[in-house]
Amino acid sequence: MEYRPNPDRYSGIMQYRTCGHSGIKLPLLSLGLWHNFGSVDNYETATAMVKHAFDNGITHFDLANNYGPIPGSAEENFGRILKRSFSNHRDEMLITTKAGHFMWEGPYGDGSSRKNLISSLNQSLKRLQLDYVDVFYSHRYDGFTPIEETLQTLVDIVKQGKALYVGISKYPPRETKFAYEYLKSQNIPCLVHQDRYSMFTRNIEQEILGIAGDNGVGFVGFSPLAQGLLTNKYLHGIPEGSRAARADGFLKMEQVTAEVIEKVKKLNDMAIYRGQTLAEMALAWALRDHRVTSLIIGASSVAQLDDNLKALNNLQFSNEELEAIERILA
Ligand code: NDP
Repeated sequence: MEYRPNPDRYSGIMQYRTCGHSGIKLPLLSLGLWHNFGSVDNYETATAMVKHAFDNGITHFDLANNYGPIPGSAEENFGRILKRSFSNHRDEMLITTKAGHFMWEGPYGDGSSRKNLISSLNQSLKRLQLDYVDVFYSHRYDGFTPIEETLQTLVDIVKQGKALYVGISKYPPRETKFAYEYLKSQNIPCLVHQDRYSMFTRNIEQEILGIAGDNGVGFVGFSPLAQGLLTNKYLHGIPEGSRAARADGFLKMEQVTAEVIEKVKKLNDMAIYRGQTLAEMALAWALRDHRVTSLIIGASSVAQLDDNLKALNNLQFSNEELEAIERILA
């Protein structure tokens, strides 16, 4: 049956924030395709999640060359979903991809060289069946490619029309400043900075968020639920099929420690007190600073996505609540 998007998708629960000093608005919640969209996953569920996201105002979809497994298959599946159901809606979607982590054998399939970035983006566009992506990211600062080589490649990719904007991901503060300056000097300003951000991983609060804010660069936080730890799912052990239980998941069983679960329990009580699930509270908390333009969430079911969207019903925290959360996290 032909997919007809919800006609009320832009007047519902979703809110949008401007991405740094740019004309782009991002939904507070974006959908990431790192897990659950690969060739090993259920294509019908993946399709249902993309449709549900779009029906609820999520316009920003985050990919990378290596998402799967198998690497590349998340882009392939997303390309298929786009072609089958979203061909009339491409211009309502902000689609991003990245390169910089290992993707193929040999000296050119990893890192942030011009060779890797351009070859990889060409492959991504084929898999996605697109002429261009909206944002192309340098997925990481690799520590050996001269940074100018990486950044000039980003500039050239925009000039070639293969991406409308560029971003950087997981760059350390010093390289971040250099990157913003370099890209600005070439009139291709960095649109967006992507890094990990959740109650459990707060490094970006020290420098990156300030540097991005000062330079008019938007910030999007990934893994805001700490890959599922900041939900109620691990309160009573590791459920079958969860990311920590899956051999191909990046959340390892060893990360689900008694100490972590102790904190999760206290946070869960706090969420209940606020009338939210822990997932909702964790997302609302990570959105409390307006320099955070959007959070890229993952989900393995439409029900999870729905739960996460409800976070937007209550984004307010009292000072007492914020202090109580700090005490739990200390
Ligand atoms: P999250 O922290 O949101 O974790 C998502 C996982 O948490 C889901 O797959 C699911 O796991 C579980 N979950 C989600 N919602 C709920 C809920 N309501 N109740 C219970 N469990 C829930 O994000 P991800 O780690 O998936 O990362 C999000 C995106 O960020 C990625 O897809 C990617 O686009 C981006 N990213 C970017 C990186 C970079 O280097 N730039 C690195 C990593 C991610 P389960 O399978 O157990 O159900």
